[in-house]
Amino acid sequence: MNWAERAATVRFDGRSLIDGERRDALGGECFDKHSPIDGRLLGPVVRGQAADIDTAVRSARAAFDDGRWARQAPAARKKVLQRFAELILAAKDELALLETLDMGKPIGHALAVDVPATARAIAWYAEAIDKVYDEIAPTGPQALALITREPMGVVGVIVPWNYPMIMAAWKLGPALATGNSVVLKPSEKSPYTAMRLAELALQAGLPPGVLNVVPGYGHEAGEALALHMDVDAVGFTGSTRVGRKMLEYAGRSNLKRVYNELGGKSAFVVFPDVADVGRAARTLAGSIFFNQGESCNAPSRVLVHESIADDFVKTVAAEAPAWQPGHPLDAATQMGALVDEGQLRTVLGYIEAGHAEGARLVTGGQQARAETGGYYVQPTVFDGVANGMKIAREEIFGPVVSVIRFRDEAEAIALANDSAYGLQASVWSDNVHRAHRVARALRAGTVHVNQYDEDDITVPFGGYKQSGNGRDKSLHALDKYTELKTTWLRIDP
Ligand code: NAD
Repeated sequence: MNWAERAATVRFDGRSLIDGERRDALGGECFDKHSPIDGRLLGPVVRGQAADIDTAVRSARAAFDDGRWARQAPAARKKVLQRFAELILAAKDELALLETLDMGKPIGHALAVDVPATARAIAWYAEAIDKVYDEIAPTGPQALALITREPMGVVGVIVPWNYPMIMAAWKLGPALATGNSVVLKPSEKSPYTAMRLAELALQAGLPPGVLNVVPGYGHEAGEALALHMDVDAVGFTGSTRVGRKMLEYAGRSNLKRVYNELGGKSAFVVFPDVADVGRAARTLAGSIFFNQGESCNAPSRVLVHESIADDFVKTVAAEAPAWQPGHPLDAATQMGALVDEGQLRTVLGYIEAGHAEGARLVTGGQQARAETGGYYVQPTVFDGVANGMKIAREEIFGPVVSVIRFRDEAEAIALANDSAYGLQASVWSDNVHRAHRVARALRAGTVHVNQYDEDDITVPFGGYKQSGNGRDKSLHALDKYTELKTTWLRIDP
């Protein structure tokens, strides 16, 4: 069977998963979920409301309070999460198909990136469970002061649609490893894999109630979760606009901890002393067009020294044909469909704004494959962009790159840092002094040097400025889901 034939066999179950059971919404509300590939109906999905969220939070609280997960021996919890990761890998074809049909990414990428990265995040935090030690403070001899990490309690997780499984796993891994219970609200644009992951976690031995999933709209289920008085922390990944709301919700409710992983407008800075301009250009194309440009860390602002800009732009444009959108279920496709019609309109709107503000279109700029009923856009390159233009300032979240030319290092740094965002950046130079100098000067959570595509669960991921305040991945993420407790013990002489 090819992927299209296998797609016909996929089961779409849009019900919540609460306390270990699949459930309809209490009030029976649903919404129809369509595939961005061709617009076809995938099925009804629970439209969770405040009452559904409340049921899920109560279930998570009960599971936390009776210690069915948090008080299991570390080695036992580790085994469950390891098994969870194994089951994810065993279900790789099904999960990849669900992700592709639900949000439009190429099946090859879902298989090569989304499923393995999800499993690796869970497995890595499973391993951490019995390797992280608590501390003893250097007090005087009359006391023993223990500094221990304790789980927060109930954690709300709210994620976007661009990497639905990976974004969830980056939070589920550390939150579950540290003994919390979780209520996960996936994006209404890509809900299916979240519920399937929770089923696999149950199958792996995670006790019912420890991981609950309620799909629904942001302003309904998402808001109810972030406002809930019995949720201790919210791990949010999404837009800066909604990240602001998360802080407001916390202020209006119980001052729950809020960890925001938000948008980006990452700068890709190419100096004339880079040995291989072609490699820089090909890396850029692979990074901005990957996942249809729907990546928070997409290098959407390219700053190129004026002396090499023509060559650089020519090479990027020459890469574009390899990224022409194709059917996401075709294993050879490199770029799939945008997530929905709204996203298509947004991206086309930015392309229009680029024209209107005088940027020069080098390649792309058009909708593609409209006859399929899906939402595709050509890989698009604008040259002659000024950093004040809308396409250079705002996150487009589509396969559109803006090329800005600079004259010297100081100007490059100033332009790169002149952004509301600070998620990632990249510096291309074979002068080791310059590479270090510029990497230090860039205000971004991750700076790549002479590469963009390397990534790993071992390193923190998150942004400066309006790109957020938390860090996903690495051992640092454990801090987000734990409270520090000091226990003083007096020792009589
Ligand atoms: P979004 O902010 O619209 O939605 C994200 C999630 O929040 C969804 O589950 C949505 O239903 C929910 N939501 C929306 N409105 C809400 C509200 N009023 N109250 C509570 N919840 C609400 O973002 P999106 O369009 O799904 O995703 C794209 C954004 O995510 C981009 O800005 C991208 O940069 C960002 N992102 C950031 C990272 C990171 O790690 N920094 C990773 C991936 C995506």
